[in-house]
Amino acid sequence: MSGMQRLRLSAIAGLLLVYPAFAQQQAPANPQPGRNLSVNQLKAQIHVTAGRRLRPKSWPNGARVAVALSFDVDNMSASLLRGDIAPGVLSRGEYGAVDGLPRILRLLDKHRIPASFFIPAVSDVLHPQMIRDILVSGRHEVAVHGWIHEALPSLENEAEEQRLLDQAIAHLTKIMGKRPVGHRAPSWEFSPYTMGQVARAGFLYDSSLMASDDAYELQLDGKPTGVVELPIEWILDDYPVLNLPGGVLASPELVNQTFQSEFDVAYDEGGLFVLTMHPHITGHRSRAAGLEKLILHMKSRSGVWFATHEQVARYVKEQARR
Ligand SMILES: [Zn+2]
Repeated sequence: MSGMQRLRLSAIAGLLLVYPAFAQQQAPANPQPGRNLSVNQLKAQIHVTAGRRLRPKSWPNGARVAVALSFDVDNMSASLLRGDIAPGVLSRGEYGAVDGLPRILRLLDKHRIPASFFIPAVSDVLHPQMIRDILVSGRHEVAVHGWIHEALPSLENEAEEQRLLDQAIAHLTKIMGKRPVGHRAPSWEFSPYTMGQVARAGFLYDSSLMASDDAYELQLDGKPTGVVELPIEWILDDYPVLNLPGGVLASPELVNQTFQSEFDVAYDEGGLFVLTMHPHITGHRSRAAGLEKLILHMKSRSGVWFATHEQVARYVKEQARR
């Protein structure tokens, strides 16, 4: 086995350990129920799909590409959800509030670029300074990321899911003095109820699904919801590749190669580049240095529109209306 093969195998093993949702995607468990269903039965299982492609003819001021950086401020919330309360575990998340987020904000300030911050309400309750620090420049956006990073599919309870969503929206609304317009499901996982609840809550956009490189309108059971999807991807996320232990690419340089290549093609195609990071992961020194290299690369090209998710969603929706 070559070094690279060994690296890949340990990569997969690591991902399955730390990310059960990834395990499901990689290795569907028996008994493979799909094989005995008719085509109509299979179709009936698909509820949330990509509707209209929302790719504008051009970006604001003739820009070639839109760049939407996002940070999921999970910190300790997912550990507290699971009852994984060993001080060592919690401190890894706490790093996001203590040093990770401040370092990221300094970096974004230095380059004067905006970002969107998806914050579980509990992360804010534990470290209320964070939202104040995020909002002080006036460039950034704060959006919904669950109450306590709840795993929506395993709740299996529509009313409970609604209660947590309402609580998360109410909390951020109170803190910010205005209602958040963006939603990202914890771990990007929808339950059968999530799409309906997100649409009924009146969110401008969601950023949890991955059916396209372009923004698109989400459909529920074949009907347009009016909600803009700003698609994410596992290859555009620091979590699977940098979340040690279990992650595999300790080198931010290697991670950057993928991110940079995704950006370069998005630039050539006139598309949208959405990147998902976490303050307790990318906020570490070597990773923040890697992010700065990526930012410098992007800024070295002309016609790059750095925007919040909200700004991108409003723009593509408005352009589609014309
Ligand atoms: Zn998260």
